[in-house]
Amino acid sequence: ETQKETLGFQTEVKQLLHLMIHSLYSNKEIFLRELISNASDAVDKLRFQSVSNPDLLADDPNLRVRISFDKDAGTLTIDDNGIGMSREEAIANLGTIAKSGTAQFLEQLSGDQKKDSQLIGQFGVGFYSAFIVADKVTVETRRADEQQAVRWESEGTGEFTIEEIEKATRGTRITLHLKADDKEFADNWRLRSLVTKYSDHISIPVEMEKVVYPEFDEEGNPKESEEKSAPEWEAVNSAKALWTRSRSEVSDEEYKEFYKHVSHDMAEPLKWSHNKVEGKLEYTSLLYIPSKAPYDLWNRDMQRGLKLYVQRVFIMDEAEAFLPPYMRFVKGVVDSNDLSLNVSREILQNDSAVDSMRSALTKRVLDMLTKMAKNEPEDYQKFWNEFGAVIKEGPADDFGNKDKIAKLLRFSTTHTDKPEQTESLDQYIERMAEGQDKIYYIYAETHNTAKNSPHLEVLRKKGYEVLLLSDRIDEWMMSSLREYEGKSFQDVTKGKLDFEAEETEEAKKEKEQKQEQLKPLLDRMKSVLDEKVAEVKTTDRLTQSPACLVVGEFDMGLQMRRLLEQAGQ
Ligand code: ADP
Ligand code: MG
Repeated sequence: ETQKETLGFQTEVKQLLHLMIHSLYSNKEIFLRELISNASDAVDKLRFQSVSNPDLLADDPNLRVRISFDKDAGTLTIDDNGIGMSREEAIANLGTIAKSGTAQFLEQLSGDQKKDSQLIGQFGVGFYSAFIVADKVTVETRRADEQQAVRWESEGTGEFTIEEIEKATRGTRITLHLKADDKEFADNWRLRSLVTKYSDHISIPVEMEKVVYPEFDEEGNPKESEEKSAPEWEAVNSAKALWTRSRSEVSDEEYKEFYKHVSHDMAEPLKWSHNKVEGKLEYTSLLYIPSKAPYDLWNRDMQRGLKLYVQRVFIMDEAEAFLPPYMRFVKGVVDSNDLSLNVSREILQNDSAVDSMRSALTKRVLDMLTKMAKNEPEDYQKFWNEFGAVIKEGPADDFGNKDKIAKLLRFSTTHTDKPEQTESLDQYIERMAEGQDKIYYIYAETHNTAKNSPHLEVLRKKGYEVLLLSDRIDEWMMSSLREYEGKSFQDVTKGKLDFEAEETEEAKKEKEQKQEQLKPLLDRMKSVLDEKVAEVKTTDRLTQSPACLVVGEFDMGLQMRRLLEQAGQ
């Protein structure tokens, strides 16, 4: 056996601990949800590995989490018979934060407690939340496939100790030494109500000791029992995976709690959709739309995907094959009856059943959004403000659903002249002026540049609405949109605008004359500007500005040019 070793927490952990202890003061009880959630994950992992290696279950096949307490000592224990941790795993998992984006997260903290506690709500707190109520935490754990167990212990300040110990059973036992002010948690009824509140949906039993009432003799004195019998355990939660229950049996509160469990997000979801599919393929899905975007949403490589189960057995987190990248904000569970328990990420990428499920789930999400846009426009606007930029990847990512996605898009336009993206293409079409048959748009680096562009002058005069685009993704999106409801899209900075051609013979002549008169000036300008322009022409596109730059109809857009220039092309 090795000696006890003292190790330091990663800087980020120290910061997180400090923050958590100070900002989650009013919502302490969530620590129990986090620890039960971890125990349930550990049991899920063991169940999965035991499919190929049944020996792991050994003589302890009934998977469960147990909660016990000692009122006098002021301790609370959460004990699971899941996968457990090796020494190295304990050091890595309980001493560092592996989540991507942690550094960015910590940078965003303002020191303002109210704001910070909302941020931490989005981040998810996990194991370290034990230190909200405990001044010392002891973790004793043994991996299911190892003999050696370890004890990890910390007071949640700067460091933790780790040492090898004996432990007869596999899995993890976490003991919280409750702070003086938090002894209330070492209480049977308090714990039972917290388990029901937060962990009812957990698919394994969360057990507590049965309350044994003392028996009394005829004189009313408690009977002395000869021998203290072994504790009897009973499940406190319903221990049925939430998605296997029928929709009518599940309350909104339960759906919301389950969301927190699968998403590691403490905020409430905006919407969800729970469906059981029967027929050629059989699967159940429970999909959630979060109310807030994560920090790394813009990153197409962010961890994404659904929790995958096969016949109720947990297979993997972040199974990304079930939804396209532009739906990377969706959280939830898919439970299939058709896949094999041995399925791997590689297999998922090339499986025809998965393909069918992906297109059905994609439609499901689009339908959920379409319904929300129609029936709860305020919620939809909230959704758009958070996730609109990702939906804009949709037309290029998912050509087959282009029209459905286009209906969901929201724009800033000259109708409102505000930067908020609130207008739909359907609204645009409804407002189209007489004789207008195109949807006009302009890109610029910023909303203000777009709004004040001289290119818009003539359109404003004619009463034609123009989409004002200034998100980086917009040009890419427009290059795959092309048309909507039979109306083509027209970049107002490109080539000739249609209505310029609608002029009479007479007007045409007049224009040619003018052009002729101005020819010396135009030639002079062209020779001064030389290589910088292809052509200098007169125009009736402008009403106030003296001149503007136009890109040829088949040239690259200005914005795309800038992007390529920035990329050194
Ligand atoms: P998360 O659950 O989001 O991964 P946590 O902070 O809750 O983050 O837990 C960190 C890691 O510690 C887990 O990913 C897991 O590897 C490990 N862990 C925590 N609790 C247990 C447990 N009861 N059994 C096994 N591993 C655990
Ligand atoms: Mg966790």
